[in-house]
Amino acid sequence: MTSNQKYGSPVFTPESMAQCAELLAAPGTPVITAHRGPDGDAIGSALALWNHLSELGVHATVVMPDHYPSFLHWLPGHESVLLFEQHAEEVQTAVDAANVIFCLDYNDLSRTGALAPVLEASPAPKIMIDHHQHPKDFAAITWSDTSRCSTAELIYGWIEARGEAGEISPETGSCLYTGIMTDSGSFRFPSVTQGTHRIAAHLIERGVDHAVIHSRVYDTNQVDRMRLVGYALSEKLRVWPEHHAALIALSQEELKRFHYRSGDTEGLVNQALSIEGVNMAAFIHESHDGRIKLSLRSRGSFSVREVAAAHFNGGGHFNASGGAVEGATLDEVVAQFEHLLPGLAPALDYSI
Ligand code: 5GP
Ligand code: MN
Repeated sequence: MTSNQKYGSPVFTPESMAQCAELLAAPGTPVITAHRGPDGDAIGSALALWNHLSELGVHATVVMPDHYPSFLHWLPGHESVLLFEQHAEEVQTAVDAANVIFCLDYNDLSRTGALAPVLEASPAPKIMIDHHQHPKDFAAITWSDTSRCSTAELIYGWIEARGEAGEISPETGSCLYTGIMTDSGSFRFPSVTQGTHRIAAHLIERGVDHAVIHSRVYDTNQVDRMRLVGYALSEKLRVWPEHHAALIALSQEELKRFHYRSGDTEGLVNQALSIEGVNMAAFIHESHDGRIKLSLRSRGSFSVREVAAAHFNGGGHFNASGGAVEGATLDEVVAQFEHLLPGLAPALDYSI
């Protein structure tokens, strides 16, 4: 680590930082992207970088493949975000004008969904800043640190490596805090370190109001959502104590019954995982585009990344992964999951 990197990441070497500065100095407007179905870390990281760059006089364009939940719409810079699903032409224009394309919170261009072909076709160098395992080799600069709880923590590290941590604004800091808080399960996952807390402390020193952020992200439930969660837990939760596993599956019809909006099922899988004796939990739902989406969570020494990659065209992290199946029904994917359980049970048989 260089002397100005106290809490940052060793991936930000002086050489790679110099290369990045050179790429940014080329004519053009940086484009900042994140994965489809952006979560708090994806949009928090993107808008933190956008805010920080604009404070330096560099005007970037944030492009997201599709929309993100309304509890993240208060983030500073939200109104400037271009959604590919709504503004494909403007996005193409922005990508054509890009000197660099930042790829945040994903390790493979295919994670950007319908935006991927546009990014693949662009000659602009890509700069990946990410914390997912097994990054693909597509970027001019690959800043991958899988030990970090969030990409936002890495964006902090990037700012710190530039010697600018002392100038982080409340706007940039609020985006960083949101990314770190949401991806770390409010500072509870094993990936949280002393460094994470020191970064959070520094962001509060820089004017971030953590209580307001928690409230805006977590205390914005609609009645429909509360009833959907209640229904899922009382009617749809299945537990296999002998296999240390639990599952909640929801169809489009069920989601529509409760006027589902994106983000409404966030955290449901973690509630299933919180059952005593359960070490792996799944949430499986029928997506509006007909795909069957899975969210997998584990605690302790069992990797759900392997399960998602081997059986559900997915990937992710050791204790939090996901995937999607096309051309199958919800019931078929649920049956496939159930079928795997006896084989996984020995590896899930531990207590922590
Ligand atoms: P979530 O359950 O919150 O949708 O996703 C948890 C994690 O799983 C994400 O951070 C991401 O790393 C990974 N993930 C989710 N869906 C997919 C997918 O379709 N493909 C891959 N490769 N990873 C996914
Ligand atoms: Mn993330």
